[in-house]
Amino acid sequence: MAANIIDGKAIAEDVRAGVERAVSILPKAPTLAVVLVGDNAASQVYVRNKVRQTEEAGMVSIRRHLPADATQFEVENLISDLNADPDVDGILLQLPLPRHLHEAAAIEKIDPAKDVDGLTETNAGRLALGKPGLVPCTPSGCVILAKRALGENLSGKHCVVIGRSILVGKPAALLFLAENCTVTIAHSRTTDLAAVCRQADILVPAVGRPGLVTGDMVKPGAALIDVGINRVPAPEKGKGKTRLVGDADYSGCAAVAGHITPVPGGVGPMTIACLLRNTVLAACARRGWDVPEGL
Ligand code: NAD
Repeated sequence: MAANIIDGKAIAEDVRAGVERAVSILPKAPTLAVVLVGDNAASQVYVRNKVRQTEEAGMVSIRRHLPADATQFEVENLISDLNADPDVDGILLQLPLPRHLHEAAAIEKIDPAKDVDGLTETNAGRLALGKPGLVPCTPSGCVILAKRALGENLSGKHCVVIGRSILVGKPAALLFLAENCTVTIAHSRTTDLAAVCRQADILVPAVGRPGLVTGDMVKPGAALIDVGINRVPAPEKGKGKTRLVGDADYSGCAAVAGHITPVPGGVGPMTIACLLRNTVLAACARRGWDVPEGL
């Protein structure tokens, strides 16, 4: 039986519509500041999309751009200014930073109350402790997708996350734990990855290796939430052409899984939707507003 395709694009639209409704009933539109350092082409596209979708949701977007040779002091100074600006509810530092900059130190400068990417030590610590805080966007998108596939109650499901990065793997594992899943974190040193994966009711590869997860590693009926984004050659599209794939061998896994996210169009669109949601949550927490229902 073919897997049900989890339509991340449609679900992200749904989340964005919820954000738009929430914004329309708040006393004031929340403001998201996006900081870009340098001219990385992919980052410029991401920033443009974030700015456009912030505005489409009825929020205010501020864009700050520093040159590629900006100093650590200049980046941290800009973040301090945004921290101090009472109109700014969320600050997003677009990663990666140019190589001469200290990324972790710059992230730590962000006021945890405005840290809509959920990357500061305070928010990471809150997540680990099971306390409320702002949580990373891609992992929260994964939980939303799993719930849309399997229902709101994920309690008791075995979730296997492959990857232990600070940005995706670790927070995803903690978020599924908060949903009362039994969680296993697999990584590059895991022995017999296939056997570990076959235990998963929810399998979340977040590695960056095309074809890592094959059909024989998937438990029949499982939900496969593929975080990986890999660009691979696509000679069938013409000479030198490429296409995006996830970490799973899609057709092999779709034949076994119960639910599967496509790449592109699965986890990817959820990331910005969750960023917008976090911006509203940050605004409500900072300004003492009730969180609108349905967000
Ligand atoms: P990362 O390189 O920081 O982490 C990769 C993790 O995979 C590591 O923890 C490592 O232990 C593990 N790993 C490496 N080789 C492995 C193997 N052979 N078997 C098992 N585990 C292995 O990457 P990241 O930032 O966590 O991103 C992971 C993937 O998710 C990338 O493809 C990235 O492009 C993608 N990503 C997607 C989104 C989105 O919006 N969809 C957002 C962020 C990242």
